[in-house]
Amino acid sequence: MRGKILLIGFGPGADVHLTFRARDAIAESQVVIGYSTYIKLIEELLDGKEVHRKGMSEELDRVHLAYDLARAGRVVALVSSGDAGVYGMAGPTLEVLAERGWRGEDDPEVEVEVVPGVTAVNAVASLVGAPLTHDFCTISLSDLLTPWPVIERRVRAAAEGDFVVALYNPQSRRRDWQLAATRDLLLAHRRPTTPVAIVKSAYRDRQHVVLTELAQMCEHEVGMLTTILVGNSNTYVAAGKMITPRGYTNKYDLATTELKPGQKPLRSLVLDDEGRPV
Ligand code: SAH
Repeated sequence: MRGKILLIGFGPGADVHLTFRARDAIAESQVVIGYSTYIKLIEELLDGKEVHRKGMSEELDRVHLAYDLARAGRVVALVSSGDAGVYGMAGPTLEVLAERGWRGEDDPEVEVEVVPGVTAVNAVASLVGAPLTHDFCTISLSDLLTPWPVIERRVRAAAEGDFVVALYNPQSRRRDWQLAATRDLLLAHRRPTTPVAIVKSAYRDRQHVVLTELAQMCEHEVGMLTTILVGNSNTYVAAGKMITPRGYTNKYDLATTELKPGQKPLRSLVLDDEGRPV
């Protein structure tokens, strides 16, 4: 029997934001391996299964164990919160498997399926409005596996490129200066009043949402269960919602829906000599 590894992202919390496929994939698994906090979140789905709870730093052990069990013909789930491919277990799993000689789709012993999930950035955005309606990027501030100068370069580029920025792993007890450094890099290109959302434990019991501004970003409680969204130069707050415009007001009058003079539907924006919409 060919074994299987299922890389499952179960969404931000559990239950209603778990996809149908993720639920079925967990049901299909004989063995479930995950970080103990995540196992707790999906406990009610695990009746009768062999469960391996691992600590945060045992990620590679989890992968080797999953591969060994799958080669013995078992169906093994590696669970991550959010999406398994976004700072999750999909990457290290495929890296270790490649290292151990796994042959991909043609491998006679082990099949691998990556099950997509709702990642933190989507969950957090939904709680504050529509902050991601234009180009955005995610940056993890964790320098446990990535050199700080690399992170710094990416923050600088995102700031300069006017991307909405989602900061994953923003701060922990031992990583306490990176967030202020990031704020300063962003302030080089963005107004101090740029809207910022700080969301802890989205769709979990201790959910907490704060809307603030870039200059005050570090004056709030931020931990490892927090994701921070920093707006771009057009992001604003109205009716308590964080909005990043898609660009409709460049072309249309929002109230009447009429085209602005000089603009054409389904055509590139017409710009003046300074590069601004006419
Ligand atoms: N695979 C996960 C990300 C893992 S990295 C995903 O796709 O969402 C861990 C980081 O994700 C945390 O430090 C935090 O920044 C973010 N995160 C995960 N779940 C979250 C939640 N429910 N609310 C807010 N942030 C969350």
